[in-house]
Amino acid sequence: MNCKICSNNAKLYFNELVLNKYKVDYFRCGHCGFIFTEEPYWLDEAYKLPINISDTGLLFRNMYLAKMTACLFYLSFNKDGKYLDYAGGYGVYTRLMRDIGFDFYWNDPFCKNLFATGFAAAEPLQKIYQAVTTFESFEHFVSPKEELEKLLAVSDTVVFSTNLHNFLQPVEKEWWYFSFGHGQHISLYTKESLSVLAEQYNKRFYTFGDLHIFTGKEIPALKMYLIKRTGKHILYEYVRHKMQGKTMEDHYYMKTFENR
Ligand SMILES: [Zn+2]
Repeated sequence: MNCKICSNNAKLYFNELVLNKYKVDYFRCGHCGFIFTEEPYWLDEAYKLPINISDTGLLFRNMYLAKMTACLFYLSFNKDGKYLDYAGGYGVYTRLMRDIGFDFYWNDPFCKNLFATGFAAAEPLQKIYQAVTTFESFEHFVSPKEELEKLLAVSDTVVFSTNLHNFLQPVEKEWWYFSFGHGQHISLYTKESLSVLAEQYNKRFYTFGDLHIFTGKEIPALKMYLIKRTGKHILYEYVRHKMQGKTMEDHYYMKTFENR
């Protein structure tokens, strides 16, 4: 089996019951550490609920991501430009980013927009965005390269989250991120595999924790350091103070749709 990221040899790593009934092979690349399943024939069943019911971290994660990316976009990108949240789920992150003051739009072919109604991105998607964000979606990709190409067709900068495992250490089957129970996590990355992916598309790769950036831009190390160290609190408070939140502006805009 060839690695879906670097094309080197990937060996059978283990197999495990997915959705409590399908015995699924997991492969691991010896060159970049990427782990992926055999052809995922069980996905129709896995996606009966678009957002898996055991994702208890959804709200907390969105709050964290909104703070960190607000700092990133404020410091290193055009804060007045348009942004897109791809595979944006219920629209929680899009709403939060608009509340902070970024002109964010939502897109998700598989989920209902509950919180960012009125701010769905115009389709077909155009390359007008400063950055496209996509959180907790890379691990769902059957073909990571094809999906990344779609994202890069919308923006030169892709900001995403996915939990990484360590290339140098064996990965325990018990790692919660495998999520055998819902069967949706079929691509599991290392820092090395993301680095290879960025290089293939001629992008710079930045990472802090489980948040990653592929971009054509150079982000100075000092800015990255500031975001990492203070993005959750002091720097975020500063950015929020400097930005003009869109909560009320959007409220009046949405009111124009009432009683039509
Ligand atoms: Zn590989």
